[in-house]
Amino acid sequence: MSKRDYYEVLGISKGASKDEIKKAYRKLSKKYHPDINKEPDAAEKFKEIAEAYEVLSDDQKRAQYDQFGHTDPSQGFGGGADFGGFGGFEDIFNTFFGGGGSRRRDPNAPRQGADLQYTMTISFEEAAFGKETDIEIPREETCETCHGTGAKPGTKPETCKHCHGTGQVSVEQNTPFGRIVNRRTCHYCNGTGKEIKHKCSTCGGSGKVKKRKKIHVKIPAGIDDGQQLRMAGQGEAGLNGGPSGDLYIVFHVRQHEFFERDGDDIYCEMPITFVQASLGDEIEVPTLHGKVKLKIPAGTQTGTKFRLRGKGVPNVRGYGVGDQHIQVRIITPTKLTDKQKQLLRDFAEISGSAPIGEQEESFFSKVKRAFKGE
Ligand SMILES: [Zn+2]
Ligand SMILES: [Zn+2]
Repeated sequence: MSKRDYYEVLGISKGASKDEIKKAYRKLSKKYHPDINKEPDAAEKFKEIAEAYEVLSDDQKRAQYDQFGHTDPSQGFGGGADFGGFGGFEDIFNTFFGGGGSRRRDPNAPRQGADLQYTMTISFEEAAFGKETDIEIPREETCETCHGTGAKPGTKPETCKHCHGTGQVSVEQNTPFGRIVNRRTCHYCNGTGKEIKHKCSTCGGSGKVKKRKKIHVKIPAGIDDGQQLRMAGQGEAGLNGGPSGDLYIVFHVRQHEFFERDGDDIYCEMPITFVQASLGDEIEVPTLHGKVKLKIPAGTQTGTKFRLRGKGVPNVRGYGVGDQHIQVRIITPTKLTDKQKQLLRDFAEISGSAPIGEQEESFFSKVKRAFKGE
């Protein structure tokens, strides 16, 4: 299957600016998101869009793509749609929550509340399978008594007489270089431009109260260490009717005592005896999805890798499930009984010093040649 041109995928020209790329991506990813678009090829298109964006939004990758076109899929940004860190992940969430908010200097202009960050530590399994949980975060909310004005109900804040509502005052200073006019924050109103004669008794005039807020969090299955989830509007309350800030939940995933994770794949090591390795056996391997039987062929060498398809972690964006990779390690026995020792001696005697397997044969002949200097 030949790949479509990334610019064509996003419907933009070759000279598109970063902003145009971002806009096109947001529009299209929203349109084709599998949760929203139920057309059969939506997921495929969504993936294609994400991949195109991943390359074109990165200056280095874009330059490389402009020069070389599509690279070998095994070389990175191919079918696997690796978004690279949580940059892409974050962007996707941004798309659905909207966001932004400009901060102006006008003290009466609506201002967005502060963003909050919450670090959540979860287990390896919780990260793999997702979880729903409640968290409690302390945050500032708009005071319900005065609806954020800071004034006692029935009264209104007045315009600050010192700064005439601008929140700033001019201070003139004579210096050896001449007269300098500085603009400073008005100390009477702390830059709010308002004077509250009768303060609200609930919030003491600030218009905000500290509260512990319970928030329900759906941890998506497949989340990885360091990734974050943005919850729009769950940050601190805005000022002057401005929107609330956002809450960012940063995940810290605890290590597993047996498994290691890389992306959607799981890695582990399984010890086997040299008898199992020599004669072959069927062993039980723990996976995140329960125990699985694994056939060890006769003559297995230490370090041999096996793969269990689909026994890894579900992709956080729903693109299938990773694999589990098992590397076997042959354990040399350290505590042998007299009988076992005797059996091994007998075994050695029968085998002599001759190599046992084909691989060893070629290895030993190389060693011999090395000694002869051939
Ligand atoms: Zn109040
Ligand atoms: Zn003032």
